[in-house]
Amino acid sequence: MTTSNELTCQELVELVTEYLEGMLSPEERARFDAHLAICSGCRTYLEQFRQMIRTLGRLTEASVPPQARDELLMVFRHWKRGGPPSAS
Ligand SMILES: [Zn+2]
Repeated sequence: MTTSNELTCQELVELVTEYLEGMLSPEERARFDAHLAICSGCRTYLEQFRQMIRTLGRLTEASVPPQARDELLMVFRHWKRGGPPSAS
């Protein structure tokens, strides 16, 4: 069940462009921030995403290749299963 107020990591990933564009509702933004506060993986993701945007120079949906997004999502799922890559 995902009916709680807590955002899942996948939902955060889905919302990250809107977050960075300031397009989330205050409620969504609060949930986003609350998740970031408890999830270091998502903080890392957000930082990587910002860097990617800086590299691309623009923040539009078209400028975020679906492939890059999928790759980050895959890294994510890996973390959730086996912990951070550095913890070998
Ligand atoms: Zn998370």
